[in-house]
Amino acid sequence: MSSALNLPALRGHNASVVLGLLRGRDGVSRGELAAGSGLTPQAVSKIVARLRDEGLVAEAGRGEPTGGKPRTLLRLVPEAGLAAGVHLDRDRVAVLVADLAGRPVALREAGLHPEDPAAVADGVAAVVREAAAAAQGAAQGAGAARRAAAEGGTPLLGVGVGCPGPLDHAAGVLHRVTGLPRWDGFPLRDALAERLGLPVVLDKDTNAAVLAEPVRAGSTVYLHLGSGLGAGLVLDGALYRGARTNAGEFGHQTVQLDGPRCDCGNRGCLEVLCLAALRAGDTAGAARLLGVGAAGLVRLLDVDRVVLGGRAVLAAPDVFVRGVAAELAARVPDPAWQAVPVSVARAGERAVARGAAELVLAPLFA
Ligand SMILES: [Zn+2]
Repeated sequence: MSSALNLPALRGHNASVVLGLLRGRDGVSRGELAAGSGLTPQAVSKIVARLRDEGLVAEAGRGEPTGGKPRTLLRLVPEAGLAAGVHLDRDRVAVLVADLAGRPVALREAGLHPEDPAAVADGVAAVVREAAAAAQGAAQGAGAARRAAAEGGTPLLGVGVGCPGPLDHAAGVLHRVTGLPRWDGFPLRDALAERLGLPVVLDKDTNAAVLAEPVRAGSTVYLHLGSGLGAGLVLDGALYRGARTNAGEFGHQTVQLDGPRCDCGNRGCLEVLCLAALRAGDTAGAARLLGVGAAGLVRLLDVDRVVLGGRAVLAAPDVFVRGVAAELAARVPDPAWQAVPVSVARAGERAVARGAAELVLAPLFA
């Protein structure tokens, strides 16, 4: 496996601003890069030359001339680097390897015995190696960047991991995940970094999933209903993690004071009520409860959109979208003025893995 960050051009804020302007666009001229970045044309030319040397940027033909000579258009070379996104879901792991554009290149899955966290780290590392080897093979087959070919493999830049919280994103340490007492205090980030020799980023599954949404601008609430209920929040374009990186515990707000006991120790949490409705086969009721919670978030945070994901939602997406939208329409005082669209996560069941790869990629594209 190629070692991490062996592309010097990826370092430096100005280079990532230029790469950010190139990501997801077909052809951009140096003049547009200067205008978009606020850098001088000379600085842009220097950075572009470096990025081309590294194989990260290539020419994409000629644009309409603006004065004398025609403009050379530039594009990102997505095959020049890879990132692994890990979805660790208690007893299963899925690893999706994406190129620099965030497009999936390879996917591997496996079951895990979750009790011993060190064994979980071994299992995750093995699946990452397998997926990376498959992706590097695919990238070579597709005629990857010159530099990658010269070095004998497309570099894997890092590994992002989305897993159930609570956890400390800054320290990379797991906390008391329900039902898995031995995970408490386990330094999963460093354990994986040591096994793989790569930089690793650890985050909650809900935070990873919201990063998989195609629109990063404005404010998005991602609600995840699977074996639990949580939220990922992008506020004013940035992922909101909170002071202890534990924001998004959306499922543990009390909505029924004398309700059933929740795994968290309290009673009548939104999560325990939603899960009870699902167990009783009342999907519409679970959707309505989710909508009640979503309406509270919309009133509190005034967001642009609500996105739904997780196994329970994906099993009946129409019921959930309708149910949540109906509660928003009923509970937000002026639904015409504060119209908030409700949709299902674009990456479906791969939302956490796709977003986990973005944990590595997004910082390269400021
Ligand atoms: Zn609870």
